[in-house]
Amino acid sequence: MRYAETGFNLEVDLTRGNIERVATDPGDTELYLGGLGTNAKILWDRVPPEVEPFSPDNLLIFGAGLLCGTPATGCNRTIVSTISPQTELMAFSMMGGFWAPELKYAGYDKVILRGKSPDLVYLWINNDNVEIRDASHLKGKGAVETAELLRQELNEPKAQVAAIGMAGENRVYFASIEQGRSSASRGGIGAVMGDKGVKAIVVRGTQDINVAQPAEYMELCNEVLEYIKFREANYIPGVIPILARLGSPQEMAIHDEKWHTENFSWGNSRTRRKGFWTDEVASDWMKTMDNVRTRLISCYNCPLKCGATISNPGLPTYMMKCFTKLTYTMAAFSDLDFGFKIAQRATEYGVDGYSAPQVMAFALELYENGILTDDDFPGMPSDNDGRFFWLLDRIVRREGIGDVLANGTHWAAKEIGNGAEAYAHNNIKKHEQLPLKLGMLNPIYFLMYCTGEKINITQIEGQFPQGPFPKREHREKFVKDWFQVPDEKFKQYFLDWEPRGENSMPYYPTVDMTCDIVDWQERMHYIDDALGMCAGVSSFHLKPPYHMHNYPKFISAGAGIDMDEDKLTQAAKRYRTLIRAINIRRGMRRKDEKPPEDHWKKRIPELEKELLDTYYKFKGWNNEGIPTQESLHELGLDYVSEDLIQRGILNK
Ligand code: SF4
Repeated sequence: MRYAETGFNLEVDLTRGNIERVATDPGDTELYLGGLGTNAKILWDRVPPEVEPFSPDNLLIFGAGLLCGTPATGCNRTIVSTISPQTELMAFSMMGGFWAPELKYAGYDKVILRGKSPDLVYLWINNDNVEIRDASHLKGKGAVETAELLRQELNEPKAQVAAIGMAGENRVYFASIEQGRSSASRGGIGAVMGDKGVKAIVVRGTQDINVAQPAEYMELCNEVLEYIKFREANYIPGVIPILARLGSPQEMAIHDEKWHTENFSWGNSRTRRKGFWTDEVASDWMKTMDNVRTRLISCYNCPLKCGATISNPGLPTYMMKCFTKLTYTMAAFSDLDFGFKIAQRATEYGVDGYSAPQVMAFALELYENGILTDDDFPGMPSDNDGRFFWLLDRIVRREGIGDVLANGTHWAAKEIGNGAEAYAHNNIKKHEQLPLKLGMLNPIYFLMYCTGEKINITQIEGQFPQGPFPKREHREKFVKDWFQVPDEKFKQYFLDWEPRGENSMPYYPTVDMTCDIVDWQERMHYIDDALGMCAGVSSFHLKPPYHMHNYPKFISAGAGIDMDEDKLTQAAKRYRTLIRAINIRRGMRRKDEKPPEDHWKKRIPELEKELLDTYYKFKGWNNEGIPTQESLHELGLDYVSEDLIQRGILNK
């Protein structure tokens, strides 16, 4: 009997129209857990580095996290993995909502798409009945609209639908896959779905998932719920609202955008607007929010209600996720009303809410600086909001300049030339980064940014505070009930962290401490991504309900795998290293691991070099960031070192 997982994947060959239900190896679950971990193993085994993102041999894997479908609160993530057309590296974007539990209840842990369908199709997974169906009538339809049409067509109001919009169909490099109140957006995975000719995957499942030790498991789940209640009543003082609470309630439930609007950059990631958040702006934005926010909503099995349904007068209702309302508003130097309106259209088109606004702001900066001219923008309105709507429409249709911009700022700048590359200034690994510009280099975030291979906001932050608290007494209070730390030493690191003086940034935390902190933060993200846990109740947050001490118990009682903290650390390290090996095999090296030049005003090259040198060593990677033969051996990844040696990437 398999616990927590179903033990079956659905393999779909779109070229041949073939569907197979394939039993999986429980040994792989022990070594790589599920979700991201086993997705990575499949990509390593079956997608060699020669395979291009838009090759029929590229796989698009929808993996439900190991504990999805069990009663664990907030455990609902689908991890979508493929080779990204934008970065040409492994993409592993995640969506919340309801899709992953539904897939488990239908009897599958993953859906693996290979090949390409000659015509636009959708996949209908209804428990044991799985069909590839014609989707020609859905061509050009919005992602949310498609979901609704398919539920009606199938007469299945409870079916969960992951769909692409026009951006995915037209292979826009930052196209998303939309699902319910969530989406998998980073890395252009929607473009790969469109390239494979799949408009949507509809799932309905009514079966059960087994849990190894139900009584123990329910007790663990109840402890988590109790803790969530406790945290709701006891915010962490002294940190920004989004970190004081769990989930992302700030986005929709409460309203304080001071930190985001004043610290994230506006326009093409250049301008910080200190003092923007006045009482007048707060009151105007609150009114706007109250006018359009109709209902607060959660993902599957979560009480935190981070999202909301949004009804703009005259526009279809949609579900606002995360931070999108601000990314558009700020890129266009506009107001919240504009953000809510354009987010509706962008959600239907299915584009990443971080990349799309930045690509448009980049285009307008090129225009203002004479690198692009009126000839490139025939018929573009003169007002800023109008320009953004106009550009979005051109991009998702790949019309005119939109066809160039649809490849993202890195590739567009290369194609445009004439100095355009200097304007694509906010990229890491060919990928638009958070529009965050700060003063002093923060060593923790320097390493998180450099070595992160997912590159989204929730993978850069973590369970260690972002900065020192002003007074020691505040820090003492904070560490008092900080039971989530994997080691007591982290408390001392934080206690001694001062805003000024010898123990302040950039030289404190010291290089060695920084390596410890980054390794802990990263480990938690990778564990969440294998279990299917939302980072909003775990790795993204300070003092979350899930941590290194209760996760092994969840895995043991839930999946029936004998787990402890050391084994879990080793498993996470194993598939984290495997992902690095996939990307190394595709050409990623140290030169790619650097934050944008202007990410911090003050940069310190010697310290940055020491941080990277030391962290590489700490992780068991050589000076180029390539895992060494010894470290691969320790993790049971000899098959990886053999491959890297054969390809001349590692020396024997
Ligand atoms: S914390 Fe928010 S984003 Fe995460 S599962 Fe709960 S409702 Fe969804």
